[in-house]
Amino acid sequence: MNESNSIAHRIAAIRQEIPPTVKLVAISKGATVEQMRAAYATGQRDFGESRIQATVEKQAALADLPDICWHLIGQLQSNKVRKAVQMFEVIHSVDSLKLCQQIDRVAGELGKSPQVFLQVKMLPDPQKSGWDVGALLIDLPEINHCKFIQVNGLMSIAPLGLSDQELMHLFVSVADLQNTINRYDYPSINLKHLSMGMSQDYQLAVAAGSSIIRVGSKIFTY
Ligand SMILES: *Cc1c(COP(=O)(O)O)cnc(C)c1O
Repeated sequence: MNESNSIAHRIAAIRQEIPPTVKLVAISKGATVEQMRAAYATGQRDFGESRIQATVEKQAALADLPDICWHLIGQLQSNKVRKAVQMFEVIHSVDSLKLCQQIDRVAGELGKSPQVFLQVKMLPDPQKSGWDVGALLIDLPEINHCKFIQVNGLMSIAPLGLSDQELMHLFVSVADLQNTINRYDYPSINLKHLSMGMSQDYQLAVAAGSSIIRVGSKIFTY
């Protein structure tokens, strides 16, 4: 089997495991543009990248594929917010009120309305950024004032080394938090989606209610 065939094969296998309502974002941060083209040829349109500069190059190389939807999944620094809003329709890694407000202001200036995900940490994890639950609840009234972004959901990354049971518990707790937040009266915050689940844990995430999975190595590395 050549490489394109095996990428196609792996995407098909993942799609078969998930309901059609769950969106598969192919995380291409470790992939070449040729590998991305192989994924595109299977109908894959959502691609996720973690770095701005690498994405600038990939967008140029893939300019003939204008219907790709680009997702930012990596930590975003203040000085790159403008570029990010220009380049990505979806930002999964909004991890502070300040960043949220910056994205909103720039979106207003550029006439854009990016979809954003609020990144939450259900367990302490020094490797990852994001709100813990208490801090997020405190910031919600300010997030609700953001006028240009679409606050679409919660995003979470499980810490390494959890058992299946612990992973399930964690994913369910994110789904519970989504429901809790949606019951509050914040008109601008309507959390429709949960972005959780990666190569190692997406089956559990989907079982817990995830609607967007971010899968990289299982598609592109072998
Ligand atoms: C790299 C990355 C992924 C994909 O991880 P895999 O284990 O390769 O599927 C998903 N989400 C985020 C935030 C990432 O950084």
